[in-house]
Amino acid sequence: MIGALILVLTIGAGAAGIGYLIHYNAQEHRAREALRREEEARFRTALLHELGKRRGSSFRLSEFIAKCEVPDDLARRVAEDVYACYYRKVIADGVIAQEEQTRIGLLTRALEIDQEQVRRIEQYAKEQTYSQAVDGVLADGAVTDDEARSLESLRRGLGISKQDAFRLTGDVSRSSYLATFRRIVRDGVVTPEERAELLRCKKALALSDDQADSIVRAEALTLYRETFAMVVQDGVITDEEEKTLAWLQGWAGLPDSDVAEYHARMRIVKRLAAYREGKLPVVRTRAILEGGETCHWESDCTFEYKTRTRLNEITGNLIVTSRNVFLASHSKSFSFKPSKILDIMRFSNGLEIKVNSGQGSGRYRVAGAEELEAILTGVVRKHKYLLCENYSSERTRHIPDEVKREVWDRDGGRCVKCGKSDYLEFDHIIPHARGGSNSVNNVQILCRRCNLLKSDRI
Ligand SMILES: [Zn+2]
Repeated sequence: MIGALILVLTIGAGAAGIGYLIHYNAQEHRAREALRREEEARFRTALLHELGKRRGSSFRLSEFIAKCEVPDDLARRVAEDVYACYYRKVIADGVIAQEEQTRIGLLTRALEIDQEQVRRIEQYAKEQTYSQAVDGVLADGAVTDDEARSLESLRRGLGISKQDAFRLTGDVSRSSYLATFRRIVRDGVVTPEERAELLRCKKALALSDDQADSIVRAEALTLYRETFAMVVQDGVITDEEEKTLAWLQGWAGLPDSDVAEYHARMRIVKRLAAYREGKLPVVRTRAILEGGETCHWESDCTFEYKTRTRLNEITGNLIVTSRNVFLASHSKSFSFKPSKILDIMRFSNGLEIKVNSGQGSGRYRVAGAEELEAILTGVVRKHKYLLCENYSSERTRHIPDEVKREVWDRDGGRCVKCGKSDYLEFDHIIPHARGGSNSVNNVQILCRRCNLLKSDRI
C-alpha cells in the first residue's frame, strides 16, 4: 500500500520534474557551449600570437598546452583548425610554392599534427576550395573562357581527378550543365557560339562526354518536345530550327522511331507553309473547270451562315480552285472569287470567312481546317498580289517566346486536359480569331488530340 503510494508520488513528481529538467538541461547546455567557444577563441588568439612570435621553429604544442592550462582535446582541436585555415589559404590559387611547403612542414611539427590528420585536413581543404571555386564560377549562370581555364588549372593544381570533381560538385554540375543546355536550346535555335559555350561549360565542370550526355539525355525528350512545340507554333520552321531539332535529337540519342511522329508533323507544317507562300497542291476533281483553272482543294463541308432571323446550315462539297471558291450542294450552291475574301479566321474545326460579296460569308466546317486555311491564304495571295498578313490567321497567331516559355513552365509541359506529354501544342483559350490575345492567361498547352477535339465555339 505504502509502496504503491510512493510509486504514484514518484511518477507525479517525475512528470512535473521532466519538463523542468529538459528546460534546465537546455539552458545549461547553451551556457556550457558559450563557455567552451570563449575558451577556444582565447586559446586560438594566444596560439596565433605565440606562433607569430616564434616563427614556428622552436614551438611545441604540448608545452604550450601545459603552460596555458587548457584541456588537451580543446587545444588540439584549435590547433588542427589553425593548421586547416593556413592550408586553405595556401592552396587557394591551386599552387603550393616551395616556401609555403616548408612552412606547412614546420607547422605540422609545431602543432603536432600527425600524418593521418594531415591527409584528412588537406583532402577536405582541397575539396572545399574546388567546390567553392565551381560555385563561384556558376553563380552568374554563364561560364567564360577564362573561368573554364582557371577552374581546370585549379583542379589539376589541387590534384583532384575528374571523377572526384564530379563526385564533389555532381549536383551543382548536373543542374548547372542542364540549365545551360536548356537556356541555349530554348529559343529553338542553337548558334555556333552557343555550342562553344556548352563545350566550355562541360570543360569547366570537368564532365566527361558520357557524364554530359547522361545529364542531358534524361531530359532530352522533354526538351525535344518543348522545342518542337515552340518551333512549330507559328506555322513556320526555319532551316536553323530544323537543324537545332536534329542536333537535339543527336544529343539526346533519341532513335528515329521516338521522333517519327514529330518528323511527320514537321513535314506537314512545312507543306502548309509552302501553300501559304503560293506553292499550291493540285488535286483531281469531278467538278467542271474552265480551261487553265486548277483545283487545289475539294472536301465535304458544312456551311453555317446567319440571316437576320436565324442560323442556317448547308451540307455540300467545297471546292477551291485557282479562280473560284464554290460550295456545291443539293439545296443551294454559290461561288465567289478569292479576291473577294476579306478575312480568314481558323478554328480547330473550320474556317470563318468574311467575303466582300453577296454570298459566302460564314463558317465552313471541314476536316483539315489547317490545310484549307493554308491553301486559301496561298490562293488569295496570288490573286491580290500582296501579303495577306493582316488576316486574323496564322501570322498574328504567333505567340511571343517568353509567353510560350511561361505557359510551358506553368502547365508543366503537359496537356492541361488529359495530362499527356507527347505532341503538345500551344492553344488559345479564347480563340485568336475571336479576339483572344497572345497573353499567358489566354494560352494553354493541349496535346494534338485534345486540341483537335476542342471545338472553338464560345
Ligand atoms: Zn490531351
